Amino acid sequence: MSSIFDVTAAAQVLWPEHRADEWDRPGLIAGQTFAECKKALLSVDVSSDVLEEAIAGNFDLIISHHPFLLGSDHELSAQSAKGAVLLSAIKNDVALFSAHTNADIVTDGVSDVLAKALGLIDPKPLVAIEGTIMGHGRIAELSQPMTLLDFARHVSRCIAPTAGGVRVAGDPEQRISTVALCAGSGGSFLDEAINHGADVFVTSDLRHHTASDAIERARALGRSFALIDISHWAAEALWLEVAAKQLAEAVPDVKFVVSDLRTDPWDFAVTQ
Ligand SMILES: [Zn+2]
Repeated sequence: MSSIFDVTAAAQVLWPEHRADEWDRPGLIAGQTFAECKKALLSVDVSSDVLEEAIAGNFDLIISHHPFLLGSDHELSAQSAKGAVLLSAIKNDVALFSAHTNADIVTDGVSDVLAKALGLIDPKPLVAIEGTIMGHGRIAELSQPMTLLDFARHVSRCIAPTAGGVRVAGDPEQRISTVALCAGSGGSFLDEAINHGADVFVTSDLRHHTASDAIERARALGRSFALIDISHWAAEALWLEVAAKQLAEAVPDVKFVVSDLRTDPWDFAVTQ
C-alpha cells in the first residue's frame, strides 16, 4: 500500500522543490501525508471540473503543474471560488499537490518535453542554473531547417488544438534552424533567446509591448528573429504523460492517470 507521502517523495526526487523559483509555491497544499493513495490524476490546473473528475473517479490525489494557491488569495471560505474547490477537495479526501517551476527546469521537465515533442536535437537549457544541467527554457537545432511558416505548422501539429491556435510574428519565408522555447509564460526569457542566436522563440502569453520590443531589439541588431505564441495549457499538457510514466515507475502500485480535460481558458476565436 502506498501513501500520499510515497508519491510526493518520488516527486521530490524527480522535481526537487528547493530548485523552484523563489516566488513559487509547489508541493502539497491539501491532504494527509500518510493517507492511502491508489489513484492520482494529473492535470495542468486544478479547476472545479478537474476536481469533479477526481471525485467521480475515486482519485486520492491531484498532481497539477500549476500550484492551486499562488498569489494573493486570502479567503478560503466556500463563498470564494478557490475556497469552494479546496473545501470540496478536503471533504472528499482528494489531496492536492503541484510541481511547477521545479518541474520546468529538469531534463524531461515541462520545457524539455516540449522541445523533444517539436523534434529538437539535444535541447539545452536556455537559462542554465550554474553548476547543474537544469535551467529554464530550452534551445536547440532543428534536424532539418525549414521556413517559419512550415515550422509554425509543425508546432501546431505537435500540440493539442486550442481556440487561440498558433500566432506568429515574422517573415513566413524566414529560415529557421535554431529554436529557443519556454513552455508556459516565457516572455521574461526573450533577451536570452535573442542573445543565444535563436531564429525563433516559442512560448505563451506574450504581451503586446513585450513582443513588439523584442522584434525591434532583434531588428536593431540586424537579426531575423521570429516569435511563435502558443496556448499555455497545450504547451504544458505534453509533460503530463511523461510525468505520469516517471511516477508510475517510482511508485508502481499507484495508478497515474492524465486528465482528458482541457483547462485552456479560451473557447473560441473569430477573425474578420
Ligand atoms: Zn504554466
